[in-house]
Amino acid sequence: MTEALLSHQCPQCGAPVELDETDRIFACPFCQVRLFIHSGGPFRYFMKPLIESPDTLVYVPYWRFRGNAFVLDPQAMHHKILDSSLLAVDIQALPPSLGLRTQAMKLSFVEPTTPGLFLPPTFDNGDFKARLLKAVPGLAASSGPSLTACVGDVMSLIHLPVFQGENLVDGLTGKLLGPACIDEARLEKAGSHLRFSSTLCPQCGWDLVGERSSLIQTCPHCDTAWEPGPEGGTRVTPHFLQTPEQPALYLPFWNLRFRAKGFRLQTWADLIRLTNLPRALLPWMESTAFSFRVPAFKIRPELFLNLSAQVSLYQPDAPELETLPKTPLHPVTLPQKEAFQAVPVVLGRLAPARKNLFPRIRGGSLQPLEANIEYLPFVDAGHEYIQPEMNMAIQKNALFWSATL
Ligand SMILES: [Zn+2]
Ligand SMILES: [Zn+2]
Repeated sequence: MTEALLSHQCPQCGAPVELDETDRIFACPFCQVRLFIHSGGPFRYFMKPLIESPDTLVYVPYWRFRGNAFVLDPQAMHHKILDSSLLAVDIQALPPSLGLRTQAMKLSFVEPTTPGLFLPPTFDNGDFKARLLKAVPGLAASSGPSLTACVGDVMSLIHLPVFQGENLVDGLTGKLLGPACIDEARLEKAGSHLRFSSTLCPQCGWDLVGERSSLIQTCPHCDTAWEPGPEGGTRVTPHFLQTPEQPALYLPFWNLRFRAKGFRLQTWADLIRLTNLPRALLPWMESTAFSFRVPAFKIRPELFLNLSAQVSLYQPDAPELETLPKTPLHPVTLPQKEAFQAVPVVLGRLAPARKNLFPRIRGGSLQPLEANIEYLPFVDAGHEYIQPEMNMAIQKNALFWSATL
């Protein structure tokens, strides 16, 4: 799997700049400007037509997802890395997915000046994920109850060009798709979803530090952390687990607080009763809140679930720090909203016998309340990183893989 190639004209000097789909910072090699890229809602891209036609240029939307998919039924856990797209409107004549076009074609951001007319999607990205889970071979649950999740680092809308006159023609290949069938009354001009904002610290004006794909950036000058936003950004308070050893790296996890509806899951004791975890019920467990932890970085699905289970059961006590550590912080690439999607499957993963869990949670839900980032220190141990307090190891190449996926 490769990054989709994206090209964009520098908002400052006008030079054409290539970037990766996962870049959250636009860095111009010509004028050196660095800007955060934001989108109200999913990122919207289009592919430029490769043929010319006097007919109406129409952009057709496809949802694109890249990330981990999980299906847990009473007997088995199925998981898969997905990189898929599905047509976001119900029109038979159009290709059902973009296939390899996303890797072969250069994408551009949809901007108000983009020529052509856009067909809005008729189903949202929640429906898209449900359709995706059904469509992937080997993922669907046998029958009966299951817990599912699609947890993605890329969730975007990509528009394919078609020309509509008497007939509908593929704007990339020139292939005849059939007679005209798109309702032109539904077409809209390109909207403005894209925003660029400064990468200077909103508090002190120093350059923020962080990888281009990271959703969290830090200021080494005033020791603050920021989640960039179109209006300058929101200050975040990361928490750090302490270790007496010298860490080589901090890995970010989301600490996710939620409200359970339809069943009880507020405290440690609730968790043990709900999942039948083989642990003795102690008095402190009745009064100690339980929250889920999931990796905030890209990692293979089986590792994602295992790390979530281990860190959720450890419940690190991670305080805020006065000054940020000098040790490198691994980029946060999983948005908070996507992290919450994983909560039901992590609950399923924690239960030693899921067949007992399903009747207890039937009809219930876990509703997101709030989240914050916790960094766990890892020490260098040759081929792997080790978290000493939890005695937890991660292969270095599992992290390297995640950076190049
Ligand atoms: Zn420039
Ligand atoms: Zn600052």
